[in-house]
Amino acid sequence: MKLSDILQQTDGPLFSCEFFPPKTDKGEENLWACLDELKVINPAYISVTYGAGGTTQERTKGIVTRIQAETGLSPVAHLTCVGSTADDIAALLADYRAAGIENILALRGDPPEGMGRFEATAGGFSHATDLISFIHDRQGFSIACATYPEGHPESKGGMMDDIRYLKMKQDLGAACAVTQYFFDNEAFFRFQDAADDAGITIPIIPGIMPITNYDQIVRFSAMCGASIPERIHNRMVPVRDDLDAVKKLGIEMALEQCSGLLGSGVKGLHFYTLNKSEATIAIVQSL
Ligand SMILES: Cc1cc2nc3c(=O)[nH]c(=O)nc-3n(C[C@H](O)[C@H](O)[C@H](O)COP(=O)(O)OP(=O)(O)OC[C@H]3O[C@@H](n4cnc5c(N)ncnc54)[C@H](O)[C@@H]3O)c2cc1C
Repeated sequence: MKLSDILQQTDGPLFSCEFFPPKTDKGEENLWACLDELKVINPAYISVTYGAGGTTQERTKGIVTRIQAETGLSPVAHLTCVGSTADDIAALLADYRAAGIENILALRGDPPEGMGRFEATAGGFSHATDLISFIHDRQGFSIACATYPEGHPESKGGMMDDIRYLKMKQDLGAACAVTQYFFDNEAFFRFQDAADDAGITIPIIPGIMPITNYDQIVRFSAMCGASIPERIHNRMVPVRDDLDAVKKLGIEMALEQCSGLLGSGVKGLHFYTLNKSEATIAIVQSL
């Protein structure tokens, strides 16, 4: 089902889940088991990432195609500009169309490992805005995009840069935006207010990262620019070596965050599952 229809037809809040293409057979088995378990929370869609540096194109395609064909869930394929020409992207979109894939999360992408900054491929695209426009021109796809309540790490003009580019993404055809994960709801509320003022009307769906491994999240967050409030460090540090305690606390804190966001009327919540279902199911079932 198209994202635009899902958004229109869902009255209450919708819950979506993000997976990455596993590298091993065991990881792949786990992914299908997780998707099966997640059916209990009736996810609105399942999104599948496109490896940093454009490394997982075939695996992303294989997984979204199988989700579409076999599970009854609605897949969303992430797609980045990294390492692809416009012709490569047109060919991939044609494959997706043939497989009945209707939803694309269009991104610029991060540079491949070892390359400090993003560089557009010759004959390719420089920004997500270019990719959104290209996909929109091909018709038949519902497009989601990314946005950053605490600012994209490369943004030079603060939050208003991110607002300006999000407005462009909307105007070029994005049906919704999914945020980078954040832990400070106040940052999201400020961003949503600025988006409202800028005439952004598409749903901005908060990305939620339940903490299941504190040290890993500290590392991720330093890379992607998500700030971790002092109150989270204070609660996590004493239990950081006890993974069960971290997971329990992470679920408790994500639940508090999600309740606050739903209370403000967001259209939905997007869970960064890290290919695990337990935390997402526990949170959604408690909401
Ligand atoms: C929900 C979500 C899912 C993600 N999934 C993946 C994934 O599957 N694979 C992956 O590799 N990465 C993924 N990422 C990470 C993402 O690729 C990086 O954050 C990347 O650095 C920026 O992607 P973008 O689409 O936001 O780029 P853009 O919107 O192009 O923004 C990149 C930078 O350029 C600026 N900018 C934007 N548009 C313009 C313009 N028209 N002119 C000038 N400057 C502009 C922005 O302010 C920003 O600083 C995801 C991020 C999110 C939030």
